[in-house]
Amino acid sequence: MSLNGKVILVTGAGQGIGRGIALRLARDGADVALVDLKADKIEAVKAEVEALGRKATTFVADVSVREQVYAAIDHAEKELGGFDVIINNAGIAQVKPLADVTPEDLQRILHINIGGVTWGIQAGAAKFKARGQKGKIINASSIAGHEGFAMLGVYSATKFAVRALTQAAAKEYASAGITVNAYCPGVVGTDMWVEIDERFAELTGAPKGATYEKFVEGIALGRAQTPEDVAALVTFLSSDDSDYITGQAILTDGGMVYR
Ligand code: NAD
Repeated sequence: MSLNGKVILVTGAGQGIGRGIALRLARDGADVALVDLKADKIEAVKAEVEALGRKATTFVADVSVREQVYAAIDHAEKELGGFDVIINNAGIAQVKPLADVTPEDLQRILHINIGGVTWGIQAGAAKFKARGQKGKIINASSIAGHEGFAMLGVYSATKFAVRALTQAAAKEYASAGITVNAYCPGVVGTDMWVEIDERFAELTGAPKGATYEKFVEGIALGRAQTPEDVAALVTFLSSDDSDYITGQAILTDGGMVYR
């Protein structure tokens, strides 16, 4: 799969799935703009990308703040000399029974998981149009965007919302030559899952590690997912090979949720 000459921006690129995606895209020939809240983490990923022989640039931004997403895209275009794909990967988890969700909890996760993707779609499409070129927008949904999970109710709602935004944006932007798709991972062994497992332990009394193991036992292919597994789908969606696919939210979960 060749991404030679493409400039791709990844949010939440400092660790976990975002880092895995950035490295795979670089291996496949893309130059990457790395966006995250954590400056030190994206600097480290930049060095890894450069070691693969590709260009990288970093930009610290909070994806829930609209102007910061626009600024990140302007920065990527200026530093890397183009703009072809945006990957709206940044997101947070929230483990809580619905009975305990506060207005503050709700605002925070809506702003990051739905706001971040909304601004990324809007700003990415505006940039493609301004440049007079086609483009690709790729959003992070989840198995929890196809099925609501207990203790992850509001998180699941935000990932359903990402699917809705992906479908609507695909319809709105098709005539401009912009495709919009989402990837839906299952159980990926990142810091996000460390946090989910710890919160389940606090709330249910399950031993540490038990919730993660229970979820992994439910995977048909018999192992947890890696960021590289997710990146394999995202590099395809970033490539010209996916040009005829739009509005889809594709599951990559080793066999957990069947749609
Ligand atoms: P992670 O917590 O390991 O990494 C997320 C990264 O996003 C971090 O570097 C963090 O600093 C950054 N980030 C968080 N909020 C941000 C903000 N407001 N602005 C900019 N950057 C921000 O998470 P991960 O497991 O790598 O997950 C990445 C994406 O994949 C998320 O959208 C998540 O919901 C989704 N996902 C994860 C899993 C999983 O099992 N880990 C499964 C399905 C979907």
